Amino acid sequence: MTLLRVQTASVRYGRRFALKEVDFTLQAGEIVALLGPSGAGKSTLLSLFDGSVAACSGVVHWQERALLSHPRNARLRAMRRMFQDPLGSLNPEVLVLDSVAGAHESLCGSTKAAARLAACNMLEAVGLVGLGVAQRPSGLSAGQRQRAALARALVTQPQVLLADEPVAALDPLAAAALFQLLRREREQRGMAVVIVVHDPTPVPTLADRYVVLHEGRCVDAGPAAELLRSAHPVTRSLCDMSAA
Ligand code: ADP
Ligand code: MG
Repeated sequence: MTLLRVQTASVRYGRRFALKEVDFTLQAGEIVALLGPSGAGKSTLLSLFDGSVAACSGVVHWQERALLSHPRNARLRAMRRMFQDPLGSLNPEVLVLDSVAGAHESLCGSTKAAARLAACNMLEAVGLVGLGVAQRPSGLSAGQRQRAALARALVTQPQVLLADEPVAALDPLAAAALFQLLRREREQRGMAVVIVVHDPTPVPTLADRYVVLHEGRCVDAGPAAELLRSAHPVTRSLCDMSAA
């Protein structure tokens, strides 16, 4: 089943194009890694998917209907975003546990007790237990904030996770454990993932496909297993940078 379909979509901030005639589809249950140099348009593409920016031309369909014509709350529950800055996903005034439980309560319509239980389970699954969950985000390390933001995104069991550099503050071992969690959510519930990654190295084991953006255009794409062998110069320079 096609969840997201973007056809020749462009996005402009003022007079500058951040995305130019981008085509993209996301099937249920697939994991797509999004790569590209800084400023390539990766975060903007996630914003196009979740409806927080509009295309100035082209088509964005969610489940075969114009994205913005879907009821907002149902869309928010089905498609969860984890921002590049985890503080963008967490209210600074709210305790982490309440923030994760609050997402469950408001979007799943659950009782306070059920939401708290779901939140505790998800916080444990992302490796955040003990004192951390009773803190405000300012009391957490950058890595703990990323875990908390991921828990808040996953607690509603979304059909699609949009994750913007979700492990940038974590060491490779911790990152691998979170990638495993995403793959488990995919195996168990068929969740689809679009994940922006800085480091191409884990992509072949994490994702099914990759897409490379450069200056607002999709310049390279293919099976994740072939990313590190791509001959495209932009992809090559991303791989060589991470190998250096
Ligand atoms: P990436 O995530 O790949 O680093 P972005 O999608 O954040 O790239 O940005 C793509 C381009 O759009 C960049 O040139 C950036 O400066 C510009 N841009 C992003 N967000 C805004 C904004 N809110 N207003 C104006 N320009 C923006
Ligand atoms: Mg970005």
